Amino acid sequence: DELHGEASMDKSPRQVPGYHYSRVEPTAVRAPRLLAWSDDLAAYLGVVRPPERGPAVAILAGSQLNPSMKPFAARYGGHQFGNWAGQLGDGRAISLGELTAVDGSSWEIQLKGAGPTPYSRRADGRAVLRSSLREFLCSEAMHYLGVPTTRALSLVETGDVVIRDMFYNGNPQPEPGAIVARVAPTFVRFGNFQLMAAMGEKDNLRALADYVIRHQYPELGEPSSAVYVRWFEEISRRTAVMIAHWMSVGFVHGVMNTDNMSILGLTIDYGPYGWLEPYDPDWTPNTTDFGSRRYAFGQQPQVALWNLYQLARALAHLVETPQDLQQGLETYRTTLAETRHTMLLQKLGLTPMAPEAEDRAFVEELLEALAGSEIDMTLFFRQLSHTAPALLQKAESEETAWRELLANAAYSMSISEEQTLLQWLQRYLQRLRQEPASPEAIRESMLSVNPKYVLRNYLAQKAIEAAELGDLSFLNTLMDVLKTPFAEQPEHEELAAKRPDWAREKPGCATLSCSS
Ligand code: AMP
Ligand code: MG
Ligand code: MG
Repeated sequence: DELHGEASMDKSPRQVPGYHYSRVEPTAVRAPRLLAWSDDLAAYLGVVRPPERGPAVAILAGSQLNPSMKPFAARYGGHQFGNWAGQLGDGRAISLGELTAVDGSSWEIQLKGAGPTPYSRRADGRAVLRSSLREFLCSEAMHYLGVPTTRALSLVETGDVVIRDMFYNGNPQPEPGAIVARVAPTFVRFGNFQLMAAMGEKDNLRALADYVIRHQYPELGEPSSAVYVRWFEEISRRTAVMIAHWMSVGFVHGVMNTDNMSILGLTIDYGPYGWLEPYDPDWTPNTTDFGSRRYAFGQQPQVALWNLYQLARALAHLVETPQDLQQGLETYRTTLAETRHTMLLQKLGLTPMAPEAEDRAFVEELLEALAGSEIDMTLFFRQLSHTAPALLQKAESEETAWRELLANAAYSMSISEEQTLLQWLQRYLQRLRQEPASPEAIRESMLSVNPKYVLRNYLAQKAIEAAELGDLSFLNTLMDVLKTPFAEQPEHEELAAKRPDWAREKPGCATLSCSS
């Protein structure tokens, strides 16, 4: 009620000036069936797992509403690949309302792929099974890794067919449709504010800012010019923490457009994302981005800053001295640098050592050496968590142990690349010997930040291919394993293994399009 909703219920595509959202109902689907369910999230929200088919699943598929729901699609715009794109969404996401969790907090439930809205432009409002399954699995996996993210409650197959030009090869393929029920405190993005600022809707801009501050940032107090400044600084800080997490686990979002940036600093809109296998700052899975590589792994810190700058330009309309927003950008830089450094030291089992500049240079040298060869990021840090503390304990040959680690983690490595890494590892072990903690404590601490299990690109693809044939067992196994990504799970060694050769260039495993 604090925001302006367009009440017409008309789904036809159009510009919606003057409103924050449009009331719109999901479009019913043919034969909804529950494919996956997040038990922990459901328990937290106080909802029970529905049977595979039936009225509860119909609600999760948008085929049925219960009387308390007031579904809506939000109005936002954004910069896509650096260019202002005007009004964009929600083109296929429809929020049903909010649920109160067991701790009293409020959570918005949103159906992605629930049919057309006024914001659908020329598209169908639907989502295919492969992209929905990827969003479902990855958002839950990220949560269990401790990365700030939106959540996913359910994955439902619609029973309808969706036509997509699967790899932009001019060959449209019928595919199964699906819907994910996403969950977050709010799905408001940078782009909501940008669109209102771009359209000169200053009152709407202020109303949305006040709404988000009152409901999501109440600790900041009643909105005022000074509070908007502090709010932007807090958004910047949270965004920095999110990016530091991505860099720490090797996550590449793939489409960091400003409409895909959460106002809460959560990872949002899982599309052509991917996980680093060989550590490579230039890597992106998104085929649409192969030319500029704007959203490659190593670009993410810079792009988030650029995106925050665009948000600042929108919020400047609300602030008496817009230059004050600079502080937020500065906070982003310092928080990101500090958090990344701290997380990298933790991954290495090290505590900070003065002088800080030398400390940073030491860690950066490792990243450069990893980038210079073809080493699996996840495997390298996980094996290091075992090998390094073991070397502190016994007098086994250091060089043999390091060579074995590198051989296990490398896809390919020249002799000189191996030499560079060996030299770094020898210096590292000397430094690790100065740590006051016991080898056992160092091991335990390293194992708690270096995941064994991440959603490797080819694993997601295998789950998709099986699910498309009606076999959900691999999806279920992955969901289960990814719930405890830091634990050793000896019965699932194969899911922690190096990417197999066949997956190296395979579409869906190595490359993804935006078609979803
Ligand atoms: P994305 O880059 O996937 O976040 O998509 C950008 C925008 O395009 C989204 O905000 C949606 O509003 C819209 N969109 C993407 N796919 C569809 C679709 N199948 N139907 C309607 N709108 C879509
Ligand atoms: Mg999006
Ligand atoms: Mg490389």
